[in-house]
Amino acid sequence: MEDRGIIRKIDQLGRIVIPIEYRKNLNLQPRDTIKMTMVDNHIVIDKYSERCIFCGNKNKLREYRGKQICPKCAAELKKKV
Ligand SMILES: [Zn+2]
Repeated sequence: MEDRGIIRKIDQLGRIVIPIEYRKNLNLQPRDTIKMTMVDNHIVIDKYSERCIFCGNKNKLREYRGKQICPKCAAELKKKV
């Protein structure tokens, strides 16, 4: 189904509420971290994890295509390609 958009007003502090439908689709929970980026004059909001998407490690993370990955998992992936 095409997303025709949801119109919201920004409050005096610049805040908006992310619609419940979007939060459910992305499994966004209260106190989750999100990442905002500007792409072609649009604001893009992504769920952000401070852990490796594969093993949950929190150390020495690097970002690849918007996801966090640890050196060990990156090395394992490199071997499989
Ligand atoms: Zn990992």
